[in-house]
Amino acid sequence: MSSIAFIGLGNMGAPMALNLVKAGHSLTVFDLVPAAVKGLTDAGAKAAASAAEAVKGAEVVISMLPASKHVEGLYLDEDLLGKIPSSALVIECSTIAPDSARKVALAAEVRGIAMIDAPVSGGTGGAVAGTLTFIVGGQAAALERARPVLEKMGKNIFHAGPAGAGQVAKICNNMLLGILMAGTSEALALGVANGLDPKVLSDIIAKSSGRNWATELYNPWPGVMDHAPASKGYAGGFGVDLMLKDLGLAAEAALSARASIPLGELARNLYSLHSAGGSGKLDFSSIVNLVKREQD
Ligand code: NAD
Repeated sequence: MSSIAFIGLGNMGAPMALNLVKAGHSLTVFDLVPAAVKGLTDAGAKAAASAAEAVKGAEVVISMLPASKHVEGLYLDEDLLGKIPSSALVIECSTIAPDSARKVALAAEVRGIAMIDAPVSGGTGGAVAGTLTFIVGGQAAALERARPVLEKMGKNIFHAGPAGAGQVAKICNNMLLGILMAGTSEALALGVANGLDPKVLSDIIAKSSGRNWATELYNPWPGVMDHAPASKGYAGGFGVDLMLKDLGLAAEAALSARASIPLGELARNLYSLHSAGGSGKLDFSSIVNLVKREQD
C-alpha cells in the first residue's frame, strides 16, 4: 500500500480519495477549504495544514483542482514540485489546458519526478462508485506505476499519448458532452411543450437513436432520475462554469490547430449565457432552463 498525498477534495476529489482510503492506502489530504477535508479525516485520512506538508515523504501525489491556473499556481508558482520527493509519482487529474499539463510535466521531468496527466470522465457518480475512466498522457512507464492506484478509483484506463495528450482527449470528450446535454435539453423541452411527459419521452429516447449519456445516466429534467443533479436542485455534480472552462479549452485547441468546431462554439456560447444569468455554480445539466418554459 502506498503513502499518497491527495490535494483538492471537491465534488470529484473527495470521493476519489475516499476510495483510496477504503482500498487501504495511507492518505494525507489537503484542500484550501477546511470543511472539504472532514469526510476524509472521518474515514481515516490524515489532514495536512498545507499542500507542502501533505507531500512530505509521499510516494504518490494526486491533485484534482478546478483549472489550469490552480494547477500551475500550485506546482510551479508555489513550487510544490520543489517539495515533492524525486522518487514520487505525480498523477494530475484536473481537466486543464494541454499546454499547462506539458509545462508542469516538463518542470517535473527536470527535477526527475515522473508525472502523468490523468483527467477523468464519469462524473461524481463514477467517482463515488470507483468506475471513472482515466485518460492518460505521459510516459508508458509512469502510467504502469500509476495503474494500481488508478484501478482503485476507475474501471477504464486509456493511454492517449505523450504529456498533454490525456487533456486533448478529455477536451474532445467534454465538448461532445456539452453539445449532447444542450441537445438533450432542447429535445425534452420541445416534447414537454407539445404535451409529452418528460419521463415517458426520456424512456423512449433512451432506447432509440437519440440516446446518449444524458438520457441514460444524467437526465437534465427534474424528477426523471432521482439520483441526477436535476432532481436535487442542480446541486453538486459538474458545474456550469467547469463545463464553460472545458468548452473554452476546446475553442483554444481549435484555434491553435485551425480546426472547425461550429457546434462546440455554439455550446460554449449557450453555457456562457447560462453562467452570465447567475447559474455558474449549478450543475451543467441546468442548461435545460435556457430552453424550458416556466410553466413546464
Ligand atoms: P470542485 O470545484 O468541486 O473542487 C475543486 C477543489 O479544489 C475545491 O474543493 C477547492 O477548494 C480545491 N482547491 C482549489 N485550489 C486548491 C489549492 N491550491 N490547493 C488545494 N485545494 C484547492 O471541482 P470538481 O467538480 O471536483 O472538479 C475538479 C476537476 O475535475 C475540474 O478540472 C473538472 O473540470 C474536472 N472534472 C469534474 C467532473 C465533475 O463531474 N464534477 C467530472 C470530470 C472531470
